[in-house]
Amino acid sequence: MSEVVNVAEMFGKNVFNETVMKERLPKSVFKKLKKTIEDGAELDPSIADVVAHAMKDWAIERGATHYTHWFQPLTGITAEKHDSFISAPTSDGKVIMEFSGKELVKGEPDASSFPSGGLRATFEARGYTAWDCTSPAFLREDAIGVTLCIPTAFCSYTGEALDKKTPLLRSMEAVDEQAIRILRLFGNTTSKRVTPSVGPEQEYFLVDHEKYLQRKDLVYSGRTLFGAMPPKGQELEDHYFGSIRERVAAYMKEVNEELWKLGVPAKTQHNEVAPAQHELAPIFEQANVAVDHNQLVMETLKKVAGRHGLNCLLHEKPFAGVNGSGKHNNWSLTTDDGINLLNPGETPHENIQFLLVLSCILKAVDKHADLLRESAADVGNDHRLGANEAPPAIISVFIGEQLEDVVDQLCSTGEATRSKVGGTLKTGVRTLPDLFKDATDRNRTSPFAFTGNKFEFRMVGSSDSISSPNVVLNTITAEAFKEAADILENAEDFDTAVHDLIKNQLSAHRRVIFNGNGYSAEWVEEAEKRGLPNLKSMVEAIPALTTEASIRMFEEFKVFTKAELESRVEIEYEAYSKAINIEARTMIEVASKQLIPAVVKYTSILADSIGKIKSACPDADTSVQEELLVEVSAYLSDMKVAVAALSEVADKCAAIGDNKEQATAYHDEVVPAMAALRTPADKLELIVDKELWPLPSYGDLIFEV
Ligand code: ADP
Ligand code: MG
Repeated sequence: MSEVVNVAEMFGKNVFNETVMKERLPKSVFKKLKKTIEDGAELDPSIADVVAHAMKDWAIERGATHYTHWFQPLTGITAEKHDSFISAPTSDGKVIMEFSGKELVKGEPDASSFPSGGLRATFEARGYTAWDCTSPAFLREDAIGVTLCIPTAFCSYTGEALDKKTPLLRSMEAVDEQAIRILRLFGNTTSKRVTPSVGPEQEYFLVDHEKYLQRKDLVYSGRTLFGAMPPKGQELEDHYFGSIRERVAAYMKEVNEELWKLGVPAKTQHNEVAPAQHELAPIFEQANVAVDHNQLVMETLKKVAGRHGLNCLLHEKPFAGVNGSGKHNNWSLTTDDGINLLNPGETPHENIQFLLVLSCILKAVDKHADLLRESAADVGNDHRLGANEAPPAIISVFIGEQLEDVVDQLCSTGEATRSKVGGTLKTGVRTLPDLFKDATDRNRTSPFAFTGNKFEFRMVGSSDSISSPNVVLNTITAEAFKEAADILENAEDFDTAVHDLIKNQLSAHRRVIFNGNGYSAEWVEEAEKRGLPNLKSMVEAIPALTTEASIRMFEEFKVFTKAELESRVEIEYEAYSKAINIEARTMIEVASKQLIPAVVKYTSILADSIGKIKSACPDADTSVQEELLVEVSAYLSDMKVAVAALSEVADKCAAIGDNKEQATAYHDEVVPAMAALRTPADKLELIVDKELWPLPSYGDLIFEV
């Protein structure tokens, strides 16, 4: 037996959490801090010094030498700059360890190189990080030593958000305020806050690190840009939920332990559909913490992989031809006293509050489908959304049989009088218990599925921050709640008014409900008839951020200013162009320096062999070698032509000045040119002697972990 793991003892060991604060802070300070954390009250600056002091002592006792303001710039990953706790040496050459309230609350990284999308010129580069006390500080142990990480928001000198946390916090406040109005309408006077809960399921691939290093495409772009399908793919589905191999198991164990220490409630792990693909899901937490924790999950997955000779690929589509990776963003709204607004109860038709919430969310999703789609757009996700595996690029909502029936009743007769029940599942085996069956089956193809007491937004990319999807979900819901509350607070007869409102909202937005197969071609047609947007690529989705409706809404709820939205548009176009440019340059390099030389070698071996055979035995049949030589030479020349064409369009696009025009050109011209180069290369991989082929194959990568 291996050593016993005491999870309870390990959990949160490296977190400056409530227990630690309670132990180490004076009562009055603890109370004030807790009020900010729990009730959203403004932080009292006078307590900062005391908190900083306690935090420093706690961290130093655990070996910390440095602290960092940990933030999430618009690159989508996290950033940090470390400062040690040491003070200026005293006259006798000693140092003391210091950390002031000011250093805790505010930082000023020289952050001029982070993308700001024009919000900040480099000559006015001041950017500030501000302590987010609603997400607990934690200690990170790695080769540098132990570092105290303080989650922070990152803003410009003029207060514009330069990060992914600030708008999220703003959107949480917006939905809180409006949701409380809804609750009050139904006579709830006790709940104080409504907070979005988020549980993200994270998919990833593991490959052998040595093989990874032999693939410059993986190293530079995170995905394979060449690669023929092995004889076996995922068709047997024997990997899905399969037993976990030893090396991967050891890896997962360590990932869990690292995460538990950081207070991340890692819960579920299993093998996914594609070979070498896995999933990790934590227990849901309030949105802000869940977003931070998902960043820690991604970081930990990568870091621990290195210790096991593995490499963790978070890219949405590391391998063509097998499933890609996504992130299911489970989302619900919960009060501070534990009421889930998305809980329909046993008899949803009688649960008027739930039906109002549902109809508001349907309205929000229908009205802002483009924004929701945009929030899941990233470069890698273009390979999934709309391709035959992830939910389509069209936003629709699955609500299941039971709720659809209630909606039907309401829309047709104006009255819902019954809810379908689940009944029992007969196993047909006497020794097995009959199981209680949910009233609704699952649907795996819907981008936005109601799963019992939460919505599951399944479009999000595996490598992306989950901040944007949650910002959009919170804000569009806040808007719908506000519009409902504005009507209902002034209604003379509440019961009639709420009934009419639910019916009207459901009838007006029913078109977004779809319970069928979201992967089918018929749905694409049907969705078009219903007038639902189908934004097939990231570059097509980006403009959704700055439509009139979007600017109006985000400004109304103070989540984004117009300038902040415009900056995000610029950054996204730029990010797209840069990523495609790197992929194109990598393909050119790999093709020119590795693949073409290997194929040339193979052709000369063939030619030599033909010559030698002919001279040794003029009657011998060399037709096989000759045919191969002809075939290989033809693909080789296709490759050469394609390399030249790709170089030319890549150069052309690189020179375009306007961000939108440039991204569009990369999408329309470079992406097809890359495909044109890949085709002959993948054909050649299947013909050329494996000994000569310079890249580990798909089979080597995904079946030999
Ligand atoms: P499923 O099997 O339907 O995907 P799970 O129970 O495995 O559901 O949960 C998937 C994720 O959803 C987990 O991270 C879980 O914590 C989260 N989750 C469960 N309930 C809620 C909720 N009410 N709000 C937000 N997330 C939730
Ligand atoms: Mg799921």
